Amino acid sequence: MQEPQISPSEWEVMRVVWTSNPITSKEINTILNEKKDWKLATTKTLIGRLVKKGMLSAEPNGRKFEYSPAVSEEKSVEEATESLLKQVCSKKAGSTIQIMLENSTLSMSDLEALEDVIRQKKETAPLEVECGCIPGQCSCVH
Ligand SMILES: [Zn+2]
Repeated sequence: MQEPQISPSEWEVMRVVWTSNPITSKEINTILNEKKDWKLATTKTLIGRLVKKGMLSAEPNGRKFEYSPAVSEEKSVEEATESLLKQVCSKKAGSTIQIMLENSTLSMSDLEALEDVIRQKKETAPLEVECGCIPGQCSCVH
């Protein structure tokens, strides 16, 4: 099943909950105060949306609710990356990934892992990637 899209603000909340859980809305807000000037009500709104989207689960504990992730960070990051690549012509996937690489600070071990992936991909890579776009959504010749 395709997970629902989450906004940049919702990602901020998810990252806190992935790091420490179960956690209350007040604790989430305190952590995010370091970087965001959000009122508790704003954080609560974001949490409510994430619960509705099935990204967070809420458990009552006394008078408070405690939140835990309902999806893993790895899976969410993978799906966000996939959905970005689905937004461009498949012929542009390579240059899109190149931009991401150029804009990232990567460690030696990151680069070695990437080299392994590239080496494996090279064994079966086509000479040219096929465009799967509908006519009018990219300038490839149909
Ligand atoms: Zn295309």
